[in-house]
Amino acid sequence: TKESGRGTRMFYEPGMEGQPTELLQQEHLLREAVFQGAFALHYQPQVRVADGRLVGFEALVRWRHPVRGLVGPDEFIPLAESRGLITPIGRWVLHEACRQLKAWHDEGLPRVPVAVNLSAIEFRQRDVVGEIAQVLQSAGLAPQYLEVEITESALMQQADHTRTTLQALQALGVAVTVDDFGTGYSSLAYLKRYPLDKIKVDRSFVTDTPADSEDVAIVTAIIQLAHSLQLQPVAEGVETAEQLALLRRLGCELAQGFGIAPPMDAQRAREWLRAQAE
Ligand code: C2E
Ligand code: CA
Ligand code: CA
Ligand code: CA
Repeated sequence: TKESGRGTRMFYEPGMEGQPTELLQQEHLLREAVFQGAFALHYQPQVRVADGRLVGFEALVRWRHPVRGLVGPDEFIPLAESRGLITPIGRWVLHEACRQLKAWHDEGLPRVPVAVNLSAIEFRQRDVVGEIAQVLQSAGLAPQYLEVEITESALMQQADHTRTTLQALQALGVAVTVDDFGTGYSSLAYLKRYPLDKIKVDRSFVTDTPADSEDVAIVTAIIQLAHSLQLQPVAEGVETAEQLALLRRLGCELAQGFGIAPPMDAQRAREWLRAQAE
């Protein structure tokens, strides 16, 4: 049964039910992937709502699975987190994103930042900022071209550590986005306590706009809240022209979503970047 896997319920997939050996095998394969760096980054454009111009990319990790091909993060990040593999995977992601951006810069392409997702476990590491600084330095990338996305729920843990870490990131010059905003059931007080740069309106609030008037009210409120706190709102999961029109009307600066551009491999992301120069 699902329960027999000791806290492993969330990453069971169809076909894996009742097969702990399958899970062990996936863990073994994932360890091997970490050893070999068998991952890939896809890049999703983030654009300015007013004119559709590219303002940056979000890097999204995929596992190059030997049998299943490219596997999305929702299917292996939880396993990685529970097996102590998220730290090396996160380090690979950070390295690869910085290396790629630097390579594009060196080609003379427009200089836009890349945003990397940090899991709560990575964010809790004692010297996470030292490590980020070191990766930036070894890649030769200036800190203003890196952003980190941290979920609201990760920010709510360990207030002292969170404050110190965010202050250190700010001092380094790395911008911070609150990811999945509105889903953390948290107090809003932290928004003024911590140095933050952007708020990402969770996709679940955007999906049913403009038809769902409650969701429109929530998105409107989040955008207003962001503005009154001097934070930049970003809407994610934008799939339709109607959603984009609503965001424009509400004064939301930035947006991301399949309706604008899907996550793309590095080669296709490069084309997007190149088109910006024309
Ligand atoms: P997220 O940070 O909320 O990332 C956005 C997810 O929404 C991505 O899924 C993206 O492909 C998807 N998406 C983008 N636009 C649309 C849209 O218009 N409609 C819909 N339905 N979906 C859209 P992906 O790549 O599968 O990533 C899922 C989650 O995995 C991410 O959610 C993030 O929490 C996590 N993740 C991704 N890369 C990393 C990483 O390098 N490290 C860590 N720790 N987590 C990662
Ligand atoms: Ca994100
Ligand atoms: Ca999100
Ligand atoms: Ca999410």
